[in-house]
Amino acid sequence: MGGRWHDEAKHDITFFDGTANDGFIAPHAIRYDPFNDLPEGSTHMCLRPSVQAEVCFFATDNETPIDADTAKEIASDLGVGAAATQAILKGHPVVYALTTHPGHHASPLHYGGYCFVNNVCCAAHELTRAGKRVGIIDVDYHAGDGTWRCFQRLQHALCVDFVSLHSAADYPHVFLHQNAIELSGGVDWSTYEPCLQSAIDRVLSRHVDVLALSLGLDTVAEDPEPAVDAAFRLTPKDFARMGEMFRDTGVQLLVFQEGGYALDVVPDCVHQFLAAARPMPSEPPSR
Ligand SMILES: [Zn+2]
Repeated sequence: MGGRWHDEAKHDITFFDGTANDGFIAPHAIRYDPFNDLPEGSTHMCLRPSVQAEVCFFATDNETPIDADTAKEIASDLGVGAAATQAILKGHPVVYALTTHPGHHASPLHYGGYCFVNNVCCAAHELTRAGKRVGIIDVDYHAGDGTWRCFQRLQHALCVDFVSLHSAADYPHVFLHQNAIELSGGVDWSTYEPCLQSAIDRVLSRHVDVLALSLGLDTVAEDPEPAVDAAFRLTPKDFARMGEMFRDTGVQLLVFQEGGYALDVVPDCVHQFLAAARPMPSEPPSR
């Protein structure tokens, strides 16, 4: 369900769903169209075309099923992203997009990790086309490999910079080079906070108008997904601290929810993040 959330201080943090936005079309350059979007000079290895062969070629895991409702869900997710993008363009200081599927593992050439379309990249691309300077930060436990590939492909047509803060020892097992801040298992807020601050400082140094955030909740200690000994140790309270850090940037914030599988803890993490990310009443509007 969509709608507005007015907290006790009547801050204007708005939720959307995709039900009223089914006319949205993903930007051509980053649409999921693997059969026509292979890199120049690449070789298609599916010598015997079949559904199974294409899945093996374009999927990065075997845990991302495609079923009868997947296309409908993706269309809805695109609508959520489009509505969230428009809300940023209208000046909302904080916009939170909750899609059915996460997106940061999807690239123009592959899907996986429950991701089919890279939601944050679609939004960032639209905002850049509208003249905004966008920086993307990914704080999911897993590396934002799909976002990284989109950034490599589109460069500043997508955003001015991208930083992913993630586990060094887990899926998707891709090194993101200068766009990566890799962390070891067991890190808590005392280690995480300065790394996140360095990511924020780096992106802010590019004078961005909008921060697009891939917010993963699978960095919380209770999450069941991480590999043994690789899990992070954040607490719900740490997400409030995270929200404060983004609030203190004074920059418009567009949040896409990514992973997070400790479902009894995730709502508290999200609520604490959003409650802290809202502008303080005495602050001037975001630029
Ligand atoms: Zn994740």
